[in-house]
Amino acid sequence: MQSLWNDADAIACVRAYGELGVSEDLALRTYSARLLGANPSLVLHGGGNTSVKTKGHDIFGDPVDLLHVKGSGWDLATIEPAGHPAVRLEPLLRLRSLAALSDEAMVNAQRQNLMDSSAPNPSVETLLHAFIPRKFIDHTHATAVLALANQPDAAALIKRVFGDRVACVRYVAPGFDLAKVAADAWDQAPTIEGLVLLNHGLFTFGDTAQQSYQRMIDLVSQAEAHVAEHRRAAPSDRQASPPTADLLPTLRGALSRVASGHSPGRWLLDLRTSAGALEMANHDRLAELAGRGVATPDHVIRTKSWPLVAPRPDSALLAWRAEVTAAVEQFADRYRDYFKRNADRTPQAKTMLDPLPRVVVIPNVGLVGIGRSAAEAAIAADIAETWAETVLAAEAVGRFEPIGEADTFDMEYWVLEQAKLGKQAEPRLLRHVVVITGGAGAIGAATGRAFASEGAQVVLLDRDEDAAKAAARGVGRGALALHCDVTDNQSVVRAFDEVARTFGGVDIVVSNAGIALSGAMIDLPDEDLRASFEVNLFSHQAVARAAIKIMREQGMGGVLLFNVSKQALNPGADFGAYGASKAALLALARQYAIEHGKDGVRVNMINPDRIRSGLLTDEMIRLRSAARGLDAAAYMAGNLLGREVTANDVAQAFVFAALMPSTTGAVITVDGGNTAAMVR
Ligand code: ZN
Repeated sequence: MQSLWNDADAIACVRAYGELGVSEDLALRTYSARLLGANPSLVLHGGGNTSVKTKGHDIFGDPVDLLHVKGSGWDLATIEPAGHPAVRLEPLLRLRSLAALSDEAMVNAQRQNLMDSSAPNPSVETLLHAFIPRKFIDHTHATAVLALANQPDAAALIKRVFGDRVACVRYVAPGFDLAKVAADAWDQAPTIEGLVLLNHGLFTFGDTAQQSYQRMIDLVSQAEAHVAEHRRAAPSDRQASPPTADLLPTLRGALSRVASGHSPGRWLLDLRTSAGALEMANHDRLAELAGRGVATPDHVIRTKSWPLVAPRPDSALLAWRAEVTAAVEQFADRYRDYFKRNADRTPQAKTMLDPLPRVVVIPNVGLVGIGRSAAEAAIAADIAETWAETVLAAEAVGRFEPIGEADTFDMEYWVLEQAKLGKQAEPRLLRHVVVITGGAGAIGAATGRAFASEGAQVVLLDRDEDAAKAAARGVGRGALALHCDVTDNQSVVRAFDEVARTFGGVDIVVSNAGIALSGAMIDLPDEDLRASFEVNLFSHQAVARAAIKIMREQGMGGVLLFNVSKQALNPGADFGAYGASKAALLALARQYAIEHGKDGVRVNMINPDRIRSGLLTDEMIRLRSAARGLDAAAYMAGNLLGREVTANDVAQAFVFAALMPSTTGAVITVDGGNTAAMVR
């Protein structure tokens, strides 16, 4: 493992933070914490923690000893000085004399001694940082160390690998008890450079930020070298199996069927096919290894205690659908049993989490992370890959043997985690994937922003990929931009396959792309009329067909929304190429409503009018207003409400239509009120 320490960067960091009034100690603490966070084989997603002991002053100007320790909610990779809130050290040290301290009382004592009462909760490992009297302390869950620390004879193995550089601490759940055990171990060997916490991770200490960081790198490198002596990555050749663009929506549907109203049934997926992921997925002892447990306890919050091993998808998709549904059902039964068995053992009442897996191993295909959002699914997938790497390394060295079921359960159902349940309402469209065509245009981009603000995962399709990317940046929240020419069926199929592979499926489609060609019918070139039908009718057919295919594989219903336009109901002169093709689109949408109501797919139409959308250019406005004998401003505000209607108004209508649970085949106008365009 490479040290990333760079003196020039460290000095620059001290100078830059110094200008903001941050002490040198805290600046260097921030710098090296980030170096740890930058390496996924050390820590992942909020894992690990770091501290520095320093001196400050209280409100009276009296000197006070402080512990700056990582606050919850911060990630080491991106931590700022505020991510290490200051706690008075002396009262924390006094806690060591207590015989016992509950987690709630510990958290309370830590909060009471914060210098800034609005700071985040100090890490649950704060007392361990406090009790060990070294200036800088670094803690990671390094993969190679976990391969050694999850062994039946871990203490002896660690002694062989590290000698007297470290001491070992038996597994104790993070909190007061672990802090005491770790501090006792340090007291007995105060020359050690670090502590290996069995089944958990590694702490290193130093007088300087660099020394503590460098010891971390050195010890992890030693562990890596030991693993490398034994580990030979098995080549994994994939056999043919159904395309992942079909498998993932099928798996997504299986989760939904098993949840069947008892638990949230809509999840996003993240498939990983790295060498390590495939080596695990194709392991001849996969089922047995998958049952052993997590690599380090805090992973259980993200991945549950064990992954679901899916049946190998050799068979036809339909057969796999039944097999994987049965496998999810078995997982849920096993999880309920696990909960009951362990909840009965603990004194406090526990609330069962949903019984669905967070990681699925699909033989011959890879590892799948599951989450309420793409970001959560990615975290589960990252941890799953690290779990696979740790298990494979541990098996190469000896035997992977993590903490047992009771300790895992106690971590998963830890009182402080249980306290978070039900505290935050989910955004209305979290867990939903929405695909928007014409995504780079004004209405497409506004619709993307509107769906993202409701929590949906947004995908913008456009034939102008650069413009779509720019629009996706405007949407933010992980919005994805994909190239798609909606008039090319293959391009549409490719784009939807990509969405299914990336997120596991699709829930809502806003079929929005269109063109507006004008001209009197008698003068209209046939090519213009045909071109209008290509974009305004046939492309919507291609999009709807591709979406329905995925929605049927999922079996979770779905929403198709079409941008139809007022022209379909209230045609204007010299606009026949547009109006005729949009009228055909209205009929197409109704046809989908009729034919797919039985699949639970709701199909609705939005009829906007006079939106500055890109289609309606200033030149068009001039022509259209002239055709109606009005000036441009009067034309744009020519509706019952007497004001211009915007792309945002249309976007809100799409969101509204996506949320209406019992409406299909409906036309919703977004035109400020136009008597002639009213649906009759
Ligand atoms: Zn830890």
